[in-house]
Amino acid sequence: MKNLLSVAIELPWVCPQCKQPLLLGGVTESVLCHSCSNVIETPPAFWARTLSDAMGYAIGFTDANIMTMSIMGDWGAHSLRYGKVPVHCEAPCQAPISPAALAESVETGEPVGCAACATLLRVRAAPDWFAQAVHPAIVGIAGERHLADAAGAEDPASVRFHCHSCGAALPLDGQHRKLQCTYCNTELMVPDAVWIRLHPAPTLTRWFILFDADAPPEDDDMIPLRARMRSGRR
Ligand SMILES: [Zn+2]
Ligand SMILES: [Zn+2]
Ligand SMILES: [Zn+2]
Repeated sequence: MKNLLSVAIELPWVCPQCKQPLLLGGVTESVLCHSCSNVIETPPAFWARTLSDAMGYAIGFTDANIMTMSIMGDWGAHSLRYGKVPVHCEAPCQAPISPAALAESVETGEPVGCAACATLLRVRAAPDWFAQAVHPAIVGIAGERHLADAAGAEDPASVRFHCHSCGAALPLDGQHRKLQCTYCNTELMVPDAVWIRLHPAPTLTRWFILFDADAPPEDDDMIPLRARMRSGRR
């Protein structure tokens, strides 16, 4: 079983299209903005640009301080907070999660249960493209969250929305902001006041990148590859 070390990630971001807060609570190649319904691409080059320098520093840290890095580039300005912090249960429990349990979960893909409060923490093996883009010693990702998990979101079925042309009550699915009245065919846009009840602004979430602590030192050939990805060239 691998000996793991973990780096905490907090990645507040705004949608490049509509400038509303956008949750990047984990590793993904695209994210649906629930404010403007655009799919925002977050390709390997995005992750290389955002994380590879920071992860190179972080695994050498000797304490658990959280650092902040500002990142500018093709995906707009955003800030990354990161630190070499042991994986812990989500608030309010905060109990540490055993590295052995994490290592086992990276292999099985099963979530880890917090030993103190039994809350499940998502754990998975890191996709190959992610390790290639960011750092070759990356083996797993823990504590990912998705927009659907945002606290306080109302169930779309409980929200009433009426066609402003014919007054019919229309069902909302929470995914589609543009819809067509099934009675009079009017094209409708769910208004901000309703949409925000379904999709409250995401709160900052912390997730973790898991590294093989015994990985051999980096092969120099990988470094120019990542530098190319960071600058957006292939
Ligand atoms: Zn947006
Ligand atoms: Zn807990
Ligand atoms: Zn209608």
